[in-house]
Amino acid sequence: MLGHYDKPLPADDIEARPFWERAREHRLAVQRCDSCGHRHFPPGPVCPACLSDKQSWEDVSGRATLLSWVVFHRAYWVSFRDDVPYDACLVQLEEGPIMVSNFADGIPSGVRAGMAMRVVFDDVSPQLTLPRFVPA
Ligand SMILES: [Zn+2]
Repeated sequence: MLGHYDKPLPADDIEARPFWERAREHRLAVQRCDSCGHRHFPPGPVCPACLSDKQSWEDVSGRATLLSWVVFHRAYWVSFRDDVPYDACLVQLEEGPIMVSNFADGIPSGVRAGMAMRVVFDDVSPQLTLPRFVPA
């Protein structure tokens, strides 16, 4: 869906910009440390495992495991008012990093922790694509 998007936008910072650029190309990527190989998310200036500032971006499979989810019944931002109730989910990527996201099609039937998930890309505006998750 393309069009007007009035929800909070990701910060346009130098660490996160490569993530959002790849998401627009429907690629899911995380930072990988050039020194120790640790993959991590969210992005940052140094590796959380060894503090090296040598970081590269690496595409990941998009396969994940559902760790948890929650349904928000209160709009904490005015722009989410029409979406209540909405979900948020926590997934662990096959490559290790944990990511907060949403279910692309609402809470899956038979949802359970440990469920296999895969990423899909939601083009919410010409400038912004959000990775979301569906059952694999
Ligand atoms: Zn490292």
